[in-house]
Amino acid sequence: MIGAAFTCNICGHAGHFDPVGDWREAPSCDGCGSSVRMRSMIHYLLDGLLGRSPGLAGLKRRRTTGVGLSDWEGYAAPLSRAFAYTNTFYHQAPRLDICAPGKEHLGKYDFLMSSDVFEHVPPPASRAFDNAFALLRAGGLLVLTVPFADNPDTIEHYPDLRSFAVVELDGEWVVVARSADGSLALHTNPVFHGGPGSTLELRLFSRAGVIADLAAAGFVDIEVHGGAVPEWGVFPPHHHGLPITARKPASAIRKLLGRKLGAARPN
Ligand SMILES: [Zn+2]
Repeated sequence: MIGAAFTCNICGHAGHFDPVGDWREAPSCDGCGSSVRMRSMIHYLLDGLLGRSPGLAGLKRRRTTGVGLSDWEGYAAPLSRAFAYTNTFYHQAPRLDICAPGKEHLGKYDFLMSSDVFEHVPPPASRAFDNAFALLRAGGLLVLTVPFADNPDTIEHYPDLRSFAVVELDGEWVVVARSADGSLALHTNPVFHGGPGSTLELRLFSRAGVIADLAAAGFVDIEVHGGAVPEWGVFPPHHHGLPITARKPASAIRKLLGRKLGAARPN
């Protein structure tokens, strides 16, 4: 594939996309350093919220509420100017633990951004999917990325894990894990994201597994977005880890009304 001109939908910079190295993660905007993944998340967020994808630069401020889980600052700043959006963190204020969000967050948000987080949360991962659903208002939008593969099921590396420590021993990284029953186990060859000793991969999602997890949590309109959006510099590099959108159903009353109206409609 040859390079292509694009405008960054995050900073508005007009640039040229050259498909080198890791397309998904490598910075490919000379203005803000956004990657394909970051621009694709913003594209599908705006498309899902507004029904069109105008880019963040120059967007008029809206009351739409949103929350991010340790989002990249490069798009968190423009998102907070365009929407009533807050970026949150696990270790620092403003805090939000997707495995145990405070009651003040529940049912509050029109959108939730979760960028490569769910592969790192302690098992069961279903808790994170359930809480993502709980944070959203009826009709709210989840924009999710996780690395996934074509394996039939999600592979949990440490299924019974309750707590763990990552230790470097004689130049080798190992994981000391405590199970639910209190027993300790030693795991070799851990997979890290962001360099050795940093963020531990707890599971490798399968494409079907993520979709099933979202459906089990109650999400509808689940879509894995594999298309290119050349004008915004979105060129899917591979089929693993594409952006996913999913929606919390509209309110029960609206659904009920819809059913009644549908039932009353003559065939
Ligand atoms: Zn940019």
